[in-house]
Amino acid sequence: MIIEVEQDGIVGYGEASMPPYIGENQATAEAFLAKVDLSGADAFQLEGLLDGIDRLDSGNNAAKAAVDIALHDWLGKKMGIPWHRIWGLDPQTAPPSSMTIGIDTAENIRARVREAAGFPVLKVKLGTDRDREIVRTIREVTDVPLRVDINQGWKVKEYALEMAEWLAADGVELIEQPMAKELLDDHAWLTERSPIPIVADESVIRLGDIRRVQGAFTGINVKLMKCAGMREAYRMILLAHALGMKVMLGCMTETSCGISAAAQLAPMADWVDLDGALLIANDPFRGATVRGGKITLPEGPGIGVERNSS
Ligand code: MG
Repeated sequence: MIIEVEQDGIVGYGEASMPPYIGENQATAEAFLAKVDLSGADAFQLEGLLDGIDRLDSGNNAAKAAVDIALHDWLGKKMGIPWHRIWGLDPQTAPPSSMTIGIDTAENIRARVREAAGFPVLKVKLGTDRDREIVRTIREVTDVPLRVDINQGWKVKEYALEMAEWLAADGVELIEQPMAKELLDDHAWLTERSPIPIVADESVIRLGDIRRVQGAFTGINVKLMKCAGMREAYRMILLAHALGMKVMLGCMTETSCGISAAAQLAPMADWVDLDGALLIANDPFRGATVRGGKITLPEGPGIGVERNSS
């Protein structure tokens, strides 16, 4: 869902990207947004505005993110400055983005990996009963470093450690969400012993979740659609770093609107996974680019996107 906020002849763009598993869809987002009244609002009072929107209802984090992104875009355009500059970040220091390889047949996996040639790192979806086979298939095609996302697929911590050791020896640099999100003690056990970082995704949704997982994971995956937008994502990155944790900046399947919003924060991240807009065919926006993994932040104000003429 793409939304717009408009005032003083300036339009701010926002986006809610809602894969089915997050429990939001066009209808829930429309119902939530119908409760959001920005008439007469002063966008410079972003704190109060976004706190008020957050309190309208629980959940609806992607819908909330859409409003948050649109207000950030509007404010940045009003000031004439992109958010990475407002935050004092050097766009040249954004780490390269990974490209995701989904669970598929060996033939299709080989084809996807070939298409991703040029990317300095790949993110591989695992958590199946043929994980080693998938990694061997990828290694037939490329020797670039891999990051693996288990999506809670491993059931037993001893097995997870055995896999972590096997994967580390095969050029895998981190493991995302190996076990069920509520198994924090098992993740802590694994993190203590694993030769490579263990990163939380489903175990950490918003700012308030970070303290609970400190010690259980090496780092966290921050996504605008989980945490209700740019304002909270920025705070999550600061808090995680202050607690000695690493940060991956991730995404759902956003267009260049949501990806450009997230990319404003990329220079703050330790790892970046912003391939969403590369996975869609009908991108309505131009903005941040992710060519061969290299993130180029747009110079335009706000989140720096422009509508493609259709
Ligand atoms: Mg994940």
